[in-house]
Amino acid sequence: SSRAPAPRVCVVGSGPAGFYTAQHLLKHHDLAQVDIYEKLPVPFGLVRFGVAPDHPEVKNVINTFTQTARSERCAYYGNVAVGRDVTVGELRQAYHAVVLSYGAEDNRILGIPGENLPGVYSARAFVGWYNGLPENRDLNPDLSCETALILGHGNVALDIARILLSPLDLLRKTDITDCSLAALACSKVKRVWLAGRRGPLQVAFTIKELREMINLPGTQPVLNPADFTGLENAVKDAPRPRKRLTELMIKTALQKPGEVAAQAAAARQWGLKFQRSPQEVLPTADGRRARGVRMALTRLEGSGESAKAIPTGDVEELECGLVLSSIGYRSLPLDPAVPFDTQRGIIPNSMGRVEGAPGLYCSGWVKRGPTGVIITTMNDSFDTAQSVLEDLQGGMLDVSVSREGFGAVGSILRSRGVRPVSFSDWEKIDAAEVVRGKAAGKPREKIVDPQEMLQLIGH
Ligand code: FAD
Repeated sequence: SSRAPAPRVCVVGSGPAGFYTAQHLLKHHDLAQVDIYEKLPVPFGLVRFGVAPDHPEVKNVINTFTQTARSERCAYYGNVAVGRDVTVGELRQAYHAVVLSYGAEDNRILGIPGENLPGVYSARAFVGWYNGLPENRDLNPDLSCETALILGHGNVALDIARILLSPLDLLRKTDITDCSLAALACSKVKRVWLAGRRGPLQVAFTIKELREMINLPGTQPVLNPADFTGLENAVKDAPRPRKRLTELMIKTALQKPGEVAAQAAAARQWGLKFQRSPQEVLPTADGRRARGVRMALTRLEGSGESAKAIPTGDVEELECGLVLSSIGYRSLPLDPAVPFDTQRGIIPNSMGRVEGAPGLYCSGWVKRGPTGVIITTMNDSFDTAQSVLEDLQGGMLDVSVSREGFGAVGSILRSRGVRPVSFSDWEKIDAAEVVRGKAAGKPREKIVDPQEMLQLIGH
């Protein structure tokens, strides 16, 4: 009936998981009100701070998210770090349901000697740097060497290789930050190796990203045909994406240098190294920075996706002044009151229902682990929203008691001196960024200093 109180739901995090969860709830419930809390002043998570600047089409999902945010039953509160500015317990008091969608804000570490030497960076920090993530704006990576080694065989590794080797003209028209563009203009890097512990049949990148790399102007792929011996046969009955991906690698490996016109005079190179596991980052003689990585050669035990890399005992040293470890993101526990599986790095849940915590849900990378593209995240967020809807319908969430929502949280935040950023505030920041980019022919020039964002909206 029209007298039924509106369920109030809050979502923590404004990346794809947060927005898709909100979208599904609003679409399939006529009364539900959804508040989205975000740590940064600006929304969209990895769509803004992860997706490569030269992949603007991927960022079109922002249009859908914007529509959701403009819904009358949706509100956005940026600049609010849950766990610090307001606890999950306080949110649970103020809302009928709380969905945790705060992503994966850390990275896995290599756990090898030398990992902290200057010249070694996590992919997460490097990506954050070129994408204007405030916490990485001062990374200032040293690009004065000729050879870079990326540890990892996923799409993030390929993103980084492409950014390092792209002709500057291709990047200039993107929303890459000015400061990283300037650094890349002075970069001496002309050779990029991507090394993985396992073989060509275990790579995690996808064909579109590989093809882009192969076709990168002025850059030549260097693949060793010996790495692919017999694989055409092995992959005959593999699922189609794996088969096509492997065939493309084989074809590229067998191409004679110069066969592809654009690559004839290539000044830059990239290549894949297989069955190599990093053992130690080697310091220069003065111990001040990285000069290479000692790799343990491996053999594969088992086959297919589950094959394990076992060190053979042989090692190899690879000279490189820049090491980027791209071995995965990692979620962190947010609040001691929320269960967390440190082993798997996720909030334990079934269908998005947090185990042992009625009314608490999760979606996105913090639910599944830090893998999968935006579409994967969308599907699992719809699943979580569906669980919320079922629990509302089944009476598992008591909506007869009305909850104050932001009415309560707003006063808590005020008492702690926290000033949220609204969605229309973000739209002002957005407009200012677009104006700044215009002169240079860029879609936007991102503001990388949160203080500057807040000043701009008069906070
Ligand atoms: P996130 O996008 O990380 O969103 C989490 C949000 O929560 C962030 O805004 C964060 O600031 C916020 N948050 C964190 N802690 C708190 C807190 N305490 N309080 C409040 N808010 C908090 N997918 C594609 O489909 N195409 C691509 O080209 C592509 N490129 C990628 C490139 C990189 C480098 C990476 C890492 C991923 C890429 N992906 C791509 C995958 C895609 O980004 C993810 O599937 C998706 O972003 C996961 O969504 P999420 O909402 O779970 O996490």
